[in-house]
Amino acid sequence: MPDQTQSKPPARSSSYPWSQDTTSIGGIGPKLSMLLKRLGINRLADLVLHLPIRRESLTYWDGALPLPDGPVVMRVDVQAHKPGYRRSPYRILACSSALDVELFFFHAYPQTLLRQFPEGHGVAILGRPRMQRGRVQILHPETLPDDAADFRLIYPLTEGLTQQRLRHFIGMALAQFVPPPEWLPKELLKRQQMPDFATALEMIHGPHAEDKPEFEQARRRLALDELLAHQRRLLALRRHQEHQNVAGLKPSPNIAPAILKALPFALTKDQKMALQTCLNDMATGQVMARLVQGDVGSGKTAVAFCSMAAMAKAGGQSCLMAPTDLLARQHEQTLRPWAEALGLTLVFLSGRLKAKERKKALEDIAGDADIIIGTHALFQDDVVYSRLGLAVIDEQHRFGVAQRARLTGKGQGVHVLAMTATPIPRSLAMALYGDLDAVQIREKPAGRKAIETVAMQASRIDELLDGIKRVMSRGERVYWICPLVEDSEALNLTSAEQRQEWLHSKLGTEIGLVHGQMPALNKDDVMARFQQGDLQLLVATTVIEVGVNVPEATVMIIEHAERFGLAQLHQLRGRVGRGALQGRCVLLYHPPLGPLSQERLNILRHTEDGFVIAEEDLRLRGAGDMAGTRQSGVPYFKVADLVRDQELMADAQRLARMLPDHEALRALDDLFAEGDLGDLRLAG
Ligand code: ADP
Ligand code: MG
Repeated sequence: MPDQTQSKPPARSSSYPWSQDTTSIGGIGPKLSMLLKRLGINRLADLVLHLPIRRESLTYWDGALPLPDGPVVMRVDVQAHKPGYRRSPYRILACSSALDVELFFFHAYPQTLLRQFPEGHGVAILGRPRMQRGRVQILHPETLPDDAADFRLIYPLTEGLTQQRLRHFIGMALAQFVPPPEWLPKELLKRQQMPDFATALEMIHGPHAEDKPEFEQARRRLALDELLAHQRRLLALRRHQEHQNVAGLKPSPNIAPAILKALPFALTKDQKMALQTCLNDMATGQVMARLVQGDVGSGKTAVAFCSMAAMAKAGGQSCLMAPTDLLARQHEQTLRPWAEALGLTLVFLSGRLKAKERKKALEDIAGDADIIIGTHALFQDDVVYSRLGLAVIDEQHRFGVAQRARLTGKGQGVHVLAMTATPIPRSLAMALYGDLDAVQIREKPAGRKAIETVAMQASRIDELLDGIKRVMSRGERVYWICPLVEDSEALNLTSAEQRQEWLHSKLGTEIGLVHGQMPALNKDDVMARFQQGDLQLLVATTVIEVGVNVPEATVMIIEHAERFGLAQLHQLRGRVGRGALQGRCVLLYHPPLGPLSQERLNILRHTEDGFVIAEEDLRLRGAGDMAGTRQSGVPYFKVADLVRDQELMADAQRLARMLPDHEALRALDDLFAEGDLGDLRLAG
């Protein structure tokens, strides 16, 4: 029986106030803390480490036309409140010295608005004016204090929060922040001209201009800290595995024809090569640590299945862990017939099983199950495997190092096969995943047609509808992605709801909607209805699952495509054209396009190779791009940028090995402790 306590993450020190739950801040209750969790903010430490995406200087506008482009500050006198009925918006009529403006709010609390915008008073507001039927409107303006600075910080948000509120809470957390002891060597700080941790935090959340050298030094300091904490976790994992140092089970390195016959298709050359690599790894007598990288739709699941079947033939169990219930269910449905063809026992386990089903599943896992498919439930304490030999981790970046350790701790000498659709370059994969050796699947299964990608001006949206009607009449399905409004998720939701209504009025059929504010259960429900064809058109903010397979989905429409990063667009597009049917992707844009946006859309029209796109993405990204890592689809680090900070990554690797473990370093571990990674969000 393996010692299970060993595989748990080190106990968290609770002596630091920054480990406290966010609810320890005045004004944050259970509901808000749930919203914050969606941003990966669980503790006070996560609040202060939630960094701004960018800083904006504020422009004042008195209302004289032409309409400014982008957010402005206005002084207005509030004239009248017009509460909305049912789903219509709450309106406030106001005027500036030059014209009348209408302020619009969806999902508003009247009491809050009455307090923020007292009738007959003047207020300073911040928002993006737009012209609608000859009137100037502003959707969801913020109010500003009278002594507002002439800049504002923009933080990544989630639906249901506003910049204003989030900024307030971050400010409170900073005010309570107790500076930690120094963990970096003094000479290093001096040589690199890096400030101490607390000073660096202040600098990042402060009014300093991004192009000041002190700002970049502060950012680098925090990035180094984050990378060091990550390297320390990898090191601990490796030591733990070495400690366990027992040979894993050795399946035969020869691909068994019977296993290949159980599949409904022949493996591609790259799939075979990846499978062979895994079998060779497991045959060495050492424990496998393999990363399979391949674009969405490249067929990683089949490689995983063959490895698991080979493990079963050698007498071991395998498990396949997916980040969501829906993805795990999807794997179960795909793999069950394949497993049955080979006479293998397949078991499903997730947190959503009923007590009786769960009991039966646990019995099978402790008994003669060959393949176990599930979610995070797979590594919980009460799950005992009879002979776990291989752990497959799908969407690897959605799980933390500690979670992986807990899963492999469920057996001795457990081989690891991690899979990811994030095509990051090999050097970065090394730093990110440390011990994992990467193998790539670049070739797509035969018979798959290239996705037709077109860029189209948003003004032609009505023409698009005819095409959509045609596609839907053939029983095919359509994704409609709403624009990303980086700094206001309230607007993301609003625009998605409006689009849903508009499409319903034009097409007359029921239109599905998924967004980040929905509970996971409802989201899965809508996705399942879309999968079954009960809904044919699905409107979504950018939160839809990367791995969901709907072969009948043939059209992907992305509104305001110019606002998305390349990697994001590529990931979104990868959701269509997964079956034999021709896939199409329509990139709707609003002219004029800047040269960078133009180049991005062009690249996308000309290639579907995720590795090429990833490289182009890195090449095109601006230097001051704080959201860099998030944009490239690896929501792993809060501060560090995988490209810009490559040199720091090497430093962190060296420091992790060199620095003797001491109290201050444990404070670092604690500050950057891996939380629940939460939903994968394609955008901040
Ligand atoms: P991903 O790499 O994104 O996890 P999947 O494993 O889900 O991709 O495969 C995507 C689709 O391609 C599935 O429907 C799968 O059955 C199919 N597929 C995988 N390999 C092949 C192949 N060699 N030939 C034909 N279809 C394949
Ligand atoms: Mg997959």
